[in-house]
Amino acid sequence: MHNSFLRLEHVSFSYYSMLGEFMALSDINFNVEKGMFVALVGPSGCGKSTILSLICGLLKPVGGSITFYSEDFHAPRVGYMLQHDHLLEWRDVYHNIMLGLEISKNKTPENLAFVDELLEKYKLSDTKNKKPSALSGGMRQRIALIRTLAIRPDLLLLDEPFSALDYQTRLRVSGDVRDIIKSEEKTSILVTHDISEAVSMADVVIVLTKSPCSVKDIIPMEFEKNGIQRSEIRKSKLFQEYFDRIWRQIQDENTEM
Ligand code: ADP
Ligand code: MG
Repeated sequence: MHNSFLRLEHVSFSYYSMLGEFMALSDINFNVEKGMFVALVGPSGCGKSTILSLICGLLKPVGGSITFYSEDFHAPRVGYMLQHDHLLEWRDVYHNIMLGLEISKNKTPENLAFVDELLEKYKLSDTKNKKPSALSGGMRQRIALIRTLAIRPDLLLLDEPFSALDYQTRLRVSGDVRDIIKSEEKTSILVTHDISEAVSMADVVIVLTKSPCSVKDIIPMEFEKNGIQRSEIRKSKLFQEYFDRIWRQIQDENTEM
């Protein structure tokens, strides 16, 4: 486990309400290596967002442990990207991107230069002075990603970030977002109910059961190993095989009583 960045061991979690206890997670075990892109897929309501809330510390596990391994023992900085981009309409793109740095009082010359570098590198510089309302949904999500990267997170959590986009945009933006995350070498966890999105973006897909949620399968996506280039993934037989396997596992969850 030397390359381990994050480890969940026997994690369980319950919500409590007036109606009593609802066990959302029963026994979650998985490992995320540094620089790895992991996707969590599972039936709607199975506990995916709950797992992210536990990882970022918004919720505390009832049982089990969540461990971060870092070289210098600093608390990990976590960046979150959600379905809604939450860009502020009254600020232009540049000042939206600056928001996290402003709030954390980190507007250092290095960080400002880093933001400029990101905008330049990913060809977004000419959106700098625009208002979010002037941008397409796909462009807005790219900006939301840059805003998240501006705080230099150690870990990126993406909770269904493309589900509000139309199909064509979604394909393009998910590809771009993956390229950016990979080139910035960010460890990332994507939550999605879209199997093809998980298969085409992730290095490892973790299939979850319905609630109380546990891990059903952990599947490494071995496209590169099989000589399949990224641009060819969706057309490959292997893609179909992974898709069918995960589809069947999730169908079983929906039909089992
Ligand atoms: P997913 O993201 O996979 O759709 P969630 O993690 O949001 O699922 O929710 C998992 C389960 O926990 C669902 O059944 C949901 O209804 C329940 N749940 C989520 N949040 C709360 C809460 N604050 N109080 C009680 N139950 C909750
Ligand atoms: Mg959710």
